[in-house]
Amino acid sequence: MSYLAKNYNRKKISFKYGKGSYLYSTNKKKYLDFVQGIAVNSLGHAHPKLVKTIKDQSKKLWHVSNAFQIPEGEKLAKKLCKKTFADYVMFQNSGAEATEAAIKVARRYFYSIGKPNKNKILCIKNSFHGRTLAAIFASGSKKMTEGFGPKVPGFYHIEFKDTKPRFPRLRNRINKNTAAIMVETILGEGGIKPIPDKCLRYLRKICNEKKILLILDEVQCGIGRSGDFFAFEKSKVKPDIVPIAKGIGGGFPIGAVLMNKKVASGMVPGTHGSTFGGNPLAMSVGNTVMDIISNKKFLNNIKSLSKYFLLKLNKIKEKYPNIIKQIRGKGLLIGIELYKDQTKFIKKLMDNQLLTIRAAENVVRILPPLNVKRKEIDIALKVIDKVCLEIK
Ligand SMILES: *Cc1c(COP(=O)(O)O)cnc(C)c1O
Repeated sequence: MSYLAKNYNRKKISFKYGKGSYLYSTNKKKYLDFVQGIAVNSLGHAHPKLVKTIKDQSKKLWHVSNAFQIPEGEKLAKKLCKKTFADYVMFQNSGAEATEAAIKVARRYFYSIGKPNKNKILCIKNSFHGRTLAAIFASGSKKMTEGFGPKVPGFYHIEFKDTKPRFPRLRNRINKNTAAIMVETILGEGGIKPIPDKCLRYLRKICNEKKILLILDEVQCGIGRSGDFFAFEKSKVKPDIVPIAKGIGGGFPIGAVLMNKKVASGMVPGTHGSTFGGNPLAMSVGNTVMDIISNKKFLNNIKSLSKYFLLKLNKIKEKYPNIIKQIRGKGLLIGIELYKDQTKFIKKLMDNQLLTIRAAENVVRILPPLNVKRKEIDIALKVIDKVCLEIK
């Protein structure tokens, strides 16, 4: 008997502890964890530097109100701004809060320049921005919004197909009430679909033309996951607002909104707040994660691990062309799209002590820690090959 509400269909397994890429179950089995809390444990389990950070900070100070100065938060915000397009940062506790705060920043900016009716956000149909009321209606997915009406107004949608990645007639979809376009740089839950660089540049171009804002949701694909610190970097596009979360806390709940100077001008004292957001314990963890991941050598290593992993996965795809439809993704955000429903495949991987997670469209999502070892990738490849053979 479980007293937890049944909003999750949980697998019958629990874990006692984790170390690096591995999880150890209560029934004494060792699992290669290529879920990592869905891109959250970016440095694996129990990273010694994070353990030390938490230990040291927990003896000093956990929480103070944002009514006071928080030097650890100042430090992390500075690092994020120095490394990216951003001029200012606002800390939250989760991805959904970060995307909602991003929407608030966009609306407040137009309000502050005397255009309060510019408040509609154009999003991609069936994307994912979190589970709060506004965030589910931003996603425009029936599965997430069904039964949760009345509809939160202010969002409307465009289609995005990765088979034909473009945004046709986008210009016509922008009207005088549009404040921003908000998209995930790589659609995660939606099936690991990167928006190509030229499409990102097109979005930026339209936003400039129409004088609206570009919000790139990097909650899942950001903080090194794509092989660059942000997934949009290679496109040279500069967004106005970027919500982040997942990987920045390395397992500790942290969210944040990064923004440029222009839009930050609307966020005057009293416009937004968070009781927990940016507390000293969270910020000290964030600083340690940031120091490790923002390092150029560390990011280059993700790129080379990714290249190796994708190459080998494509070899497996060639070997089983009737099972695997496509290998996709960037960095260590990888999807194996199957021809059939992925449930059985994921179960079999788990039976072989490899943990993965689903995404939309028959995709098996693979999210190793960013410091995964090449030999651990080899183990995963062997299991994937074996399961393909078994399922054939
Ligand atoms: C996970 C995710 C969110 C929501 O994050 P939570 O911490 O679960 O609220 C938002 N956007 C994207 C792209 C995500 O992957």
